[in-house]
Amino acid sequence: MTEVRARAEWLRRQLEHHSYRYYVLDDPEVTDAEYDVLFRELLALEEAHPELVTPESPTRKVGGEVLPGLVSQRHSQRMYSLDNAFSADDFNEFVQRILRLEPEAVCAFWVDPKMDGLAMEVIYEQGVLTTALTRGDGEEGEVVTHTMRTVGNLPLRLRGEGGTVPTRIEVRGEVVMSRKDFDAMNARQRKEGGKLFANPRNAAAGSVRQLDSAVAATRPLMFLAYGVGVVEWGDDTPHWETQQAIMLGLSALGFQIPPQTRLCASPAEVLAHFDRLAALRPELPFEIDGMVAKLNDRSLQDALGFTARFPRWAIAFKFPAQQARTRLLDIQIQVGRTGVLTPVAHLEPVEVGGVVVSRATLHNEDEIRAKELMINDTVIIQRAGDVIPEVVRAVVEERTGEERDFVFPDQCPVCGSHAVREEGESAWRCMNMACPAVVRQSIIHFVSKAGLDIQGVGKKWIEQLVDREVVKTPVDLFGLTRLQLMGFERMGPKLAKNFVEAFAAVKKTATLPRFLCALGIRHVGEQTARVLAGHFLTLDALRTATAEELIALPDVGPEVAASILAFFNTEGNLALLEEFRSIGLWPVYLAAAVPAAGSHPLAGKRMVFTGSLPTLKRSAAQRMAEEVGAVIAGSVSAKVDYVVAGEDAGSKLAKAAQLGLRVLTEEEFLELHAGGGVDADVASVPDGAEETAPADAAEPVAATEPIQPVAEQEPQSAESGSDERAAYKAKDDQYSLL
Ligand code: NAD
Repeated sequence: MTEVRARAEWLRRQLEHHSYRYYVLDDPEVTDAEYDVLFRELLALEEAHPELVTPESPTRKVGGEVLPGLVSQRHSQRMYSLDNAFSADDFNEFVQRILRLEPEAVCAFWVDPKMDGLAMEVIYEQGVLTTALTRGDGEEGEVVTHTMRTVGNLPLRLRGEGGTVPTRIEVRGEVVMSRKDFDAMNARQRKEGGKLFANPRNAAAGSVRQLDSAVAATRPLMFLAYGVGVVEWGDDTPHWETQQAIMLGLSALGFQIPPQTRLCASPAEVLAHFDRLAALRPELPFEIDGMVAKLNDRSLQDALGFTARFPRWAIAFKFPAQQARTRLLDIQIQVGRTGVLTPVAHLEPVEVGGVVVSRATLHNEDEIRAKELMINDTVIIQRAGDVIPEVVRAVVEERTGEERDFVFPDQCPVCGSHAVREEGESAWRCMNMACPAVVRQSIIHFVSKAGLDIQGVGKKWIEQLVDREVVKTPVDLFGLTRLQLMGFERMGPKLAKNFVEAFAAVKKTATLPRFLCALGIRHVGEQTARVLAGHFLTLDALRTATAEELIALPDVGPEVAASILAFFNTEGNLALLEEFRSIGLWPVYLAAAVPAAGSHPLAGKRMVFTGSLPTLKRSAAQRMAEEVGAVIAGSVSAKVDYVVAGEDAGSKLAKAAQLGLRVLTEEEFLELHAGGGVDADVASVPDGAEETAPADAAEPVAATEPIQPVAEQEPQSAESGSDERAAYKAKDDQYSLL
């Protein structure tokens, strides 16, 4: 028994320490998952031995204290934490608990994403914002009205009039920072030598709890409402009898409510929605760590009430952890296609969110410095959705003296030539363009999705071909014979045939923008390639362009122009281009690339894509349109035929409406893409239109692994485990919003 008591005491002290780091300092030492394991152990101990429970146990309290310098204020109604479910079984048990207490309960739930930010209460009197309070310990919070006033989407005055606006209302919600804004903010901090934030939650919490509102004003924060405390109306009419009514009411008052929030009629629907949300998670603009399910009926909520820590009518259904701790075994340097030396962390393999990770990107030398990483450190790593795993920080407190510094090399680890870090750049570069690593990565890029997107030609094959010096330049790929290929182990006649045919086919189907992307000219991505192709129409015209002509184009600044000029001033590149011409890979804009007018309703149409589409990534939709001959424009003008608009389309959509342009939803675009008649009324594309698929649509060639884009910072390794590979994804896809 003394052992159990000692363990409980130890757990309490650990949890108190970590709560202080997390809630007060916004600087946690352990991952949430690690915290949750300790918490659950203490809960289990206290359940088995109720005599061990102390009133101040972390299992009885909501975490958080007032930061020195801020004033505290009592909440008129306590703010609670939430009980957790980590599996469907946990959730079902929660439902059973409700039914045990209220056998007649109708188990319809309102579900929201569980946003990973800072809990906040904002109070309005006579429709005007008067106070903002953090949750604090639940009883008392910190007054942060000064910083919350700077939050762009928080109404200072409520919308609506008279009886539709409560005389006093306490609105509860989460302050969050989008991942995109978080990355931009950390990049700025890094540049200015400031402190890096561990994650968007810490950044949001740290920003709101600033004493100086001017600092908070520079931080891109959002408030998403999810509930209410006390609400007083001018009359006695009971408003908002369900959670759904609250959410609709808050939305009408001018609050932003979370996306993907809805009513589920049964527990089974909640479980199904959880899976959906888990799949959507990487696409959401901000971090979520699960879903919150709340009984919809407020009279049932009242009947069930609260425990010391949480409501009995709501539960946080959490996703598996995306952070883990492991050891940094080594830092190795990879050389990218433009010669950039990217440090890659080699880690003791560890499971994060269902994937085994043994490598993570470290970006560049500055990143290693900013994170003060040493080899042999215990580190926290993170995988958010499908993106590349990254090292969040070193657990400095656990250093043993066995750690050693990492010195960034000033030589290319592959060819040994002198590496250079140019003024104002964060990257070290191997300047030898004949460096085998540079050649290898450029050829991989040429074939990859970001290049000519040659279907069915796996990266591993390209690596073998280059390593065995069968292929020395991308042109060599087109001269490969079946016999040559079949000399490779595991390359059968069918695969070899597909391989040869894939390269032959691409000579006919390659568009000028894709070819320009494939050439890998520095700073020329998809959009710039489109602009260049649309303006110059041929490679010959582009080759002779002057700096002035280039800079006059949208999307082309002095740096991009200089890079294009440098490319066409390099003899080796010109020789390579001539070889492409001689083998017949020489796309020109429109004339050769676009199917004959009339062959597809989108052929030759100018299109703009804006906002977040419900199912497709914008880049994927643009590519689909290009494949059938549409021309993608960067901006809305009277020359544009269609604007495909998703959520948060903003100014481009407004301009399209002003100009009276045809605006399509994703669904309408897909219908047209499937082959609706030329200029058909979008709403009346005939059923079965998909049977008339474009004749030139690329056929998948072989079922081998397609090549992913080779982003400069992306660790690329022949040895990457297949689990990890799933985590490596096109960079341009990382920040797409829902
Ligand atoms: P919680 O974060 O698990 O859940 C409660 C909070 O969820 C609410 O206060 C609210 O702010 C938030 N929330 C987000 N979306 C919501 C929605 N739609 N509806 C209602 N609430 C919503 O609980 P907590 O008490 O704030 O924190 C406990 C958790 O914090 C632990 O489980 C652990 O993961 C983490 N923690 C970590 C450390 C650490 O050192 N890493 C320390 C302490 C706590």
